[in-house]
Amino acid sequence: MGHGFSYKAGVKKTGTETGNGFNFFVEQFDDIRVLRYRLDGFDSLSLKQKKFVYYLSMASLAGRDILWDQNFRYNLLIRKTLEGMLRSHKEYRGSEEYNSFLLYAKKVFFANGIHHHYSSDKFQPGFSQSFFERLVMDTPRESLPLKDSEPVDSLISVLVPVIFDDNLFPRKVERTEGRDIIVESATNFYEGVTQKDVESFYAEFIDHKDQRPVAIGLNSRVIKAEGDIREEVYRSGGKYGEAIDVIIYWLQEALKEAENDTQRNELALLIDFYRTGDLKKWDDYNIKWAGNTGSLVDYINGFIEVYDDPLGLKGTWESVVEYTDTEATRRAMIISENAQWFEDHSPVHPEYKKEKVKGIAARVINVAMLGGDCYPASPLGINLPNSNWIRKEVGSKSVRLGNITDAIETASLCNGFLEEFASGKEEIKRVKKYEAIADALHTDLHECVGHASGRLAPETNPNALKNYASALEEARADLFALYYIYDDKLSDLGLVTDKDVVRVSYDTYIRNGLLTQIVRIKPGKNIEEAHMRNRSAIAHWVYEMGKEENVVEKYTASGRTFVRINNYGKLRELFGLMLREVQRIKSEGDYDAGKELIENYGVKVDPVLHREILERYAKLKLAPYTGFINPWLKPEFDRSGEITDVKVIYADDFLDQMMYYGEHYSYLSAGI
Ligand code: ZN
Repeated sequence: MGHGFSYKAGVKKTGTETGNGFNFFVEQFDDIRVLRYRLDGFDSLSLKQKKFVYYLSMASLAGRDILWDQNFRYNLLIRKTLEGMLRSHKEYRGSEEYNSFLLYAKKVFFANGIHHHYSSDKFQPGFSQSFFERLVMDTPRESLPLKDSEPVDSLISVLVPVIFDDNLFPRKVERTEGRDIIVESATNFYEGVTQKDVESFYAEFIDHKDQRPVAIGLNSRVIKAEGDIREEVYRSGGKYGEAIDVIIYWLQEALKEAENDTQRNELALLIDFYRTGDLKKWDDYNIKWAGNTGSLVDYINGFIEVYDDPLGLKGTWESVVEYTDTEATRRAMIISENAQWFEDHSPVHPEYKKEKVKGIAARVINVAMLGGDCYPASPLGINLPNSNWIRKEVGSKSVRLGNITDAIETASLCNGFLEEFASGKEEIKRVKKYEAIADALHTDLHECVGHASGRLAPETNPNALKNYASALEEARADLFALYYIYDDKLSDLGLVTDKDVVRVSYDTYIRNGLLTQIVRIKPGKNIEEAHMRNRSAIAHWVYEMGKEENVVEKYTASGRTFVRINNYGKLRELFGLMLREVQRIKSEGDYDAGKELIENYGVKVDPVLHREILERYAKLKLAPYTGFINPWLKPEFDRSGEITDVKVIYADDFLDQMMYYGEHYSYLSAGI
C-alpha cells in the first residue's frame, strides 16, 4: 500500500473540532486519537450505487475476526472475554483499577489485538492480575467464551500468562537479525515451525523462471502436524471459512448492483478466489480490478499487505469501500493533464527533462467503510495491486483517501499545535483558512507530476543513489510541488485563487521541516525515515542558502523558537535551485553529492532545539496515532423488503462501535 501523504504531527486531548459544523473528534486515550470521517456526496449517489456501497461495506465488516486471529492466536479469545466483562460489572465502574482495565480494553480494540498496531509491542496492563481474575470470575459465564462444561478457572489460567507475562509473546512481529523471526513473532501465520522450516517448505514452490508468478503463500497458515509441514488455506470450507462464507454472501449481493460488466466479472473472480483459495484466481481478479478505472464506486477486499509477516509472504485481511470525490479528482486531473507544461518550464537542466512526460492520474476518493487491517487506523493513500508483473502489464490504481486526510487535518487545526508553533496570529488565521487546499495541491503536484518528471542520463545506473535514493526521490517530488504551487500557471488553471494558499503551503512546510517534525524523534536519535529526511533536508538547505538575505528567519520569543518567512518569492527561487540540483544528482547518479546533501541537512537534529520542541509538544498532550470509527450505513426498506435508500448515520462512541461489531459481525469462534 502506498505510504501516507500527511506530514504533520499533532492531535488533541479533549473538546470538539468542527469544520463546517461537523465534529470530527471522538476521543483520545493513551497514544491514540479517534476521529470520524465525513461522507460528502454520498446522498447524491444513485440508489443502485448506494446499495452497491452498502453490500460491499457489509463484506468489509464480515472479515473483522480474521484479522484479529491473524494478528495473534489468542486475540479472539481475549476480545470475547473482554466483551463479556465490559457488558457486566456496573458495580466496578469509576474505580481507578477499572479505568485502567477500560483503557487496556480500548487499546486492544484499537490494535485489533494485544500488540500495539504500530510498535508491535505487547500492551502492559495497568491493573493487577488479581483484579482481572476477580472481574472474570464475576462475569456471568454465558457472557464468556466457554463451552458447556468448561470451568472459568481454565479460561483464567490460559489468559493470565498471555496478558501478564512480559516474556511471553512480547512482540507481534520480530525482525531482529540473528533471531528466529518466525518462532519469536506472535503473529498467527505459522504454528510449530521454524524460519528454516518455512523457507525450505516454500523453496520448492518458487519457480524463478515464471514471468507471472502468483504470490506464493499469501492466503494460508503454515503448520506442523505429525511431523508434516502443510498449509491451511484461507477459503470457504477451509481456514476462516465461516467468515469467508459471509464475505462471499455480501459480495454476491454487491455483484447484482455492480456498475458495469467489468466490475461484475471482477467480483465474480473475487468470489471464486474466496471459494477456492486459488491464487491464480486472485491474480485474474487483480488484473480485472486494476484495469477497471471507470467505476465511481470501488473497493479493496482480500488478503493484501504482507508487512506483518516477518517473511513478507502472508497477507493480512483488509477492506475499504469508497466512491470518487469528483471535485478533488478533477483538480488532480487538471494537474496531471498539464504535466508536459510543468516539465517544459521547470528549472531543471534541459537534458534531464523528459521530452514526453505522462502525468500520473490519481483519483481522490471518499471512504465509506473501513475494515480489517484498515480499521480503525486507516491508510491515507492506496496503490494496488502489489503483484509486480500485474503492475507492469496492466498498471496499478493509485488513490488518495480524501475524506480521511481532511478529517485528520481539520481536527489538527484546533488542537493547540498551531497556536504553539506558528509565528503569530496572521499565520494561524491563514493556515486555518487554506491548509486543506494547500495540502491537497501539494500532494497532487507531488504525486501526479513530481514523481513522474525528469530522466536519467543514458549511462546512469538507476540504483546509484543506494540508501539515499528514497529521501532524494521524495525531495525531488516535494521540490517540484513547492516550486509550482507558487506559479501563476496554477492561478490560470483556476486551482489557486488567493496567494495566501501559497504562503500557507510554504509556512507549513518550513515550520514542519525546521521545527516540528522532530517531535517524532526520540531524544539523542537521528532522523532515519526517508520522507522526514527529505523535509528536513529541504527546509535546512533553503534556510542556509537564504541566510544572508534573511529569507527564512529563526527567532526566539519568550524562550521559544519560531520560524518566519520574510521573502516568499526568494524562497521559491531557492526551491527551484535545489530542484535543479537534486534532479542533477538523480540524473547523473551522483552518490557523493546526494549523500552530502542528505547527511548535512536531513539527518542530524540539534539537541538543544530538540529538547525544547519535545517539551513544548509534551505540554499539548497530543496523541501520535490516529484512527477512525465508521459511520453506520443504514438501509431503508419498503414493504416487500426492497432497499429504497441508504442513510449515513455518524457514530459517536468508539467503545460502542467495538462492542456492536463484536456482537453483530463476529463469525469465528474462539475457545480455550
Ligand atoms: Zn512521494
